[in-house]
Amino acid sequence: MLDILRRIVQEVNSARNLDQALSIIVTQVKAAMEVDVCSVYLSDEAQQQHVLMATEGLNPESVGNIRLAFDEGLVSLVASRAEPVNLANAPEHPRYYYFPGSGEEQFNSFLGVPIIHHRKVLGVLVVQSRNPECYVEDSVTFLITIASQLAGAMAHAAASGEIERILAQNGQDLDDSKPLLGLPGAPGVAMGTAVVVYPLADLNAIPDRKIDDIDSEIEVFSKAVEQVRQDIINLSSRLEALLPAEDKALFDAYLLMLNGESLLGETIGNIRRGNWAPGALRQTILEHVKIFREMNDPYLSERADDVHDLGQRILAHLQAANQREMEYPNETILVGEDISATMLAEVPPGRLKAVVSVRGSRTSHVAILSRALGLPAVMGVKDLPVGRVDGCQVIADGYSGNVIISPSGAVRKEYQRLAQEEAELSAELMELRDQPAMTQDGKHIPLYANTGLLSDISPSLSSGAEGIGLYRTEFPFMVRQSFPGEEEQYRIYRHALQVFAPRPVTLRTLDVGGDKALPYFPIHEENPFLGWRGIRITLDHPEIFLVQARAMMKANVGLNNLHILLPMISTVAELTDALMLLRQAHAELIEEGINVTQPKIGVMIEVPSAVYQVDSLARRVDFFSIGSNDLTQYLLAVDRNNANVAELYDSLHPAVLRAIYQVVLSAKAHKIPVSVCGEMAGDPASALLLVGMGIDSLSMSASSLTRVKWVIRNVSTKRAIDLLDEVMQMEDPQTIRQYLNSRFEIAGMGGLVRAGK
Ligand code: PEP
Ligand code: MG
Repeated sequence: MLDILRRIVQEVNSARNLDQALSIIVTQVKAAMEVDVCSVYLSDEAQQQHVLMATEGLNPESVGNIRLAFDEGLVSLVASRAEPVNLANAPEHPRYYYFPGSGEEQFNSFLGVPIIHHRKVLGVLVVQSRNPECYVEDSVTFLITIASQLAGAMAHAAASGEIERILAQNGQDLDDSKPLLGLPGAPGVAMGTAVVVYPLADLNAIPDRKIDDIDSEIEVFSKAVEQVRQDIINLSSRLEALLPAEDKALFDAYLLMLNGESLLGETIGNIRRGNWAPGALRQTILEHVKIFREMNDPYLSERADDVHDLGQRILAHLQAANQREMEYPNETILVGEDISATMLAEVPPGRLKAVVSVRGSRTSHVAILSRALGLPAVMGVKDLPVGRVDGCQVIADGYSGNVIISPSGAVRKEYQRLAQEEAELSAELMELRDQPAMTQDGKHIPLYANTGLLSDISPSLSSGAEGIGLYRTEFPFMVRQSFPGEEEQYRIYRHALQVFAPRPVTLRTLDVGGDKALPYFPIHEENPFLGWRGIRITLDHPEIFLVQARAMMKANVGLNNLHILLPMISTVAELTDALMLLRQAHAELIEEGINVTQPKIGVMIEVPSAVYQVDSLARRVDFFSIGSNDLTQYLLAVDRNNANVAELYDSLHPAVLRAIYQVVLSAKAHKIPVSVCGEMAGDPASALLLVGMGIDSLSMSASSLTRVKWVIRNVSTKRAIDLLDEVMQMEDPQTIRQYLNSRFEIAGMGGLVRAGK
């Protein structure tokens, strides 16, 4: 059964559209379960009806015509209970509803399971048989498993408007201005042309893309095929002596496929229909893979992998040819399954307007980078049909997390108005640049910039930052082929310290691991966020830590604005060990005759255990910096990059607020300054609460500085404390956020927390 299940799942996943997926399901499930009927019903919310969408066994003419009201029939019973209904004799059930002409009267048993995606019932999968017997447990679990697989495909289709189109039975283009919901990644709204980016050589992720110059596309494709043919001939002759004859036959099979009409001819046919070569290739290869997989002969079925592999090889050559030609329109909206920092950096400056990613969340590093660049970002748009949006007009709203594909004229106009207001608001806020960040009662709360991300592109200085509150040193480590030496690190740190002197610059020691990997220092762990990360790595490798500490201290000579920050401290012992190494670095440099001073040293409070040992930590350091990104993920047990649980990730959760408040109070008791350097600091609503808690400074993406400055300048300490008191009575993050947002609306500054002014 597992084999059959796997095969059906694979086929459903490679179906071209929902129609095809549904027909695969009903045919295959009917055969596999040896039942007389298999049908799929979709829930039509607008009409409040369940509609028969595909069937094998009932009268095919009933498709689209059988429509059951939400309180009618057994199908509705399954949907409303959101659980299976298994009956030996369905016609005897009081909810049984007979649709004349369906042919249903011949069947007795009924098994219906709901198709559920993210708690929402999208439809019902039904099997029926003449035999009046309940279905055995194995059949029930099989059908549930199939339904759970179908749910993803259906959610995609619903998100792209495909379901509505099918229900309305007319096939127009993607254009219904219905927003897809993702997560706010970086504030701002933008409209532009989607450019889908994808990792190299991943055939399944290749989007369709319209082309005009068909002849040159065919030429590019033929060239790639020729290169693969050469590769295979070379490979085959190199392995000639080593391989047994039957394995060598594989190469011959590849060459046969490459010479044959079907793969090449079909791909060229797809190109002639206007698809670019990689998309045309994907279409052909996935079709062929499907045909091979359907064969019950295990040998032939395995050949599907060979076809896929061949496709992958051709694609690699196509991508190499295409890479130079990647075109980014003036208003590019970068769209992809998983957008990396390098994909973002490849877009020529000025052309990138927004980022939309299927994976990730607000605290993913690409969202942080977008914020640093002042670009709106929407993350975790799980239902985005990536393969079909290239070249489409897209609106990305980084406040609400909404993405609209091919918006209608009216929606476009509305967003143009919002974007215009955004620009006006930014210009107004820019006037605050040189004003002090001072509350109405005169309390100065310095605003610092977070930097280190591709260091030269972060416009920290021009944003009016009073220093650098967090310099993530791992980024210079990431873009190299090996660990940078002391001299190279010295140059990088010296530059940052010099540019900002005499203002403070906080350099954080290396915090790799988790989602930040070094290409030359691979770490493979089941659970990297709970693994070898941050200070745990550098304490295990004092040679790395000492080189970095020495470079930092040397860079500080004559400037004396260096603060050193230690990440991921979870025990007092880690702190004392790190302090010992810092003392060692200092002593060594003095011994070498370099006139270094002792920098201020602080710890990041970003692990729950540090919150509960905050007094012991405070006694040993000069300052605290609260890393709300990690503190939130560890306190709430929610992976900061996982879109599936991103709705649970919220730094305004009462537990996070309490933890932060406790840290601030403890720092006050020990008379050491405390800052927040996680993304929360740049969120106007959160900043308001942090001021109420008595935070000493805030560090954020440069692009958030003026917004937060507006908040500080427009609130008094007393008002912030009162607000905090009110919020501390609330029990869930949604209520807190709504309440704080409403305060901004009342103050006439709703534009700080949503699109528009
Ligand atoms: C944090 O965890 O809040 C933080 C600032 O560090 P990073 O985002 O680099 O993990
Ligand atoms: Mg952190």
